[in-house]
Amino acid sequence: MSSAVAMEATRRRQRLSSNGGVSETTEEPAGQWGRAWEVDWFSLSAVILLLCTAPFLVFFFVMVCDQYQCSVSQPLVELYSGEATLLSIWEKAPSFTWTAAQIYTVWVSFQVVLYMCVPDITHKFLPGYAGGVQDGARTPAGLINKYEINGLQSWIITHALWYANAQYFHWFSPTIIFDNWIPLLWCTNILGYVVSTFAFVKAYLFPTNAEDCKFTGNVFYNYMMGIEFNPRIGKWFDFKLFFNGRPGIVAWTLINLSYAAKQQELYGYVTNSMILVNVLQAIYVLDFFWNEAWYLKTIDICHDHFGWYLGWGDCVWLPFLYTLQGLYLVYNPVQLPTTHAAAVLLLGLVGYYVFRSTNHQKDLFRRTEGKCSVWGKKPTFIECAYRSGDGGLHHSKLMTSGFWGVARHLNYTGDLMGSLAYCAACGFGHIHPYFYIVYMTILLVHRCVRDEHRCSSKYGKDWKRYTDAVPYRLLPGIF
Ligand code: NDP
Repeated sequence: MSSAVAMEATRRRQRLSSNGGVSETTEEPAGQWGRAWEVDWFSLSAVILLLCTAPFLVFFFVMVCDQYQCSVSQPLVELYSGEATLLSIWEKAPSFTWTAAQIYTVWVSFQVVLYMCVPDITHKFLPGYAGGVQDGARTPAGLINKYEINGLQSWIITHALWYANAQYFHWFSPTIIFDNWIPLLWCTNILGYVVSTFAFVKAYLFPTNAEDCKFTGNVFYNYMMGIEFNPRIGKWFDFKLFFNGRPGIVAWTLINLSYAAKQQELYGYVTNSMILVNVLQAIYVLDFFWNEAWYLKTIDICHDHFGWYLGWGDCVWLPFLYTLQGLYLVYNPVQLPTTHAAAVLLLGLVGYYVFRSTNHQKDLFRRTEGKCSVWGKKPTFIECAYRSGDGGLHHSKLMTSGFWGVARHLNYTGDLMGSLAYCAACGFGHIHPYFYIVYMTILLVHRCVRDEHRCSSKYGKDWKRYTDAVPYRLLPGIF
């Protein structure tokens, strides 16, 4: 559609009002979508700071368990008093090993094979599960990519093999991940940097879709936040889907199982805290794979470009820092009183319910274009318009009822409740396992602000109408 025709269509378009009625409008869509970010000094400083510090932060949180029983303050005290030096700490930490390299190579290759060579069959017999070939969201250039959704199947095959090994085959010890943890950190870093650098160079030399590339003019920002939107090799190897979901998230539950096995080996029992962490995080991971098709419509896939933030983050940050609670519990086996354990379980389950229901409501609403029931009623919404990079005019709806009428990001609030539950499962002996809730709060608040900035430039005045109707972001009455 030419832009003149598109403008005319906008003038004439009919707009559904927030109560579902129909009204005429002459307003133009105020916003343009995508590629609107500018690199200010604050963003650039944050990018450089993260590039320089994040790998050491991950090393620090893993090393303090290995050398200081997970005490975060002890190494700082020793450094201050001169008892330890940065070099002595570094030298005591296990280094790269070829055993770890072999384990990691087998792991990543196996996940690539499952991703590329085993088309999904689970959707044929699991009622309600959306697997197989699915459409992604429209990219800024107006494309809709296809994805092979087989993450749940990969997760099931991988865990079935893990179980078969632990019970029958005994090819390797179930503690293998824990036993090679710091050497594996080296291997994941190598892959994280190789993938991010490859994606960066690829964007200049052979981008998958040049029109979806975003060059900001700043090399650090481009490297970190990515240039290509959906880098692919061939038709199906999608970097974002593969690295976001596997090998990191499939590994998450295996890492936790390896920690539980280590507790059993060291102490002869597994604590209730370890079981809680394993169960709550497994629910989260399984939820992710059950809803992998839905995940194609989330910010990571829909809006973020693929750079170091996703490439290195998925290879290193996620498997090492999202599993800190289990690691902590290997070194500090906390047995919780029943009331404490019950409170953690309740917080985790309520958080999960809010997280899942909020995401489900939006998904249902968008899939049915508002023709559905939310909390027993027809949802209310605000009709919006926006333009893609090719000038095309599109319409969308922002729901103003259900959880989305209570606050603009209750899915994040539920996620944070769940995250707090994982941390609280570790008791109150050390702050080490609480790093996760601090990090998740920063991540999701920042994500909320970033998303709202993007939505505001995408929808213009329509976004303002939405924020007037739903004034709070995460906590009604507070934020
Ligand atoms: P959302 O699923 O909240 O998606 C935000 C997008 O939804 C907006 O950009 C907008 O997209 C659309 N939208 C916003 N408001 C409305 C509304 N009222 N009605 C309909 N659509 C609306 O965010 P994420 O993709 O960030 O998160 C998805 C889930 O993943 C969350 O539950 C989050 O907690 C979780 N998550 C977990 C992480 C982790 O590390 N554990 C990291 C990141 C996310 P549009 O342009 O289409 O209008």
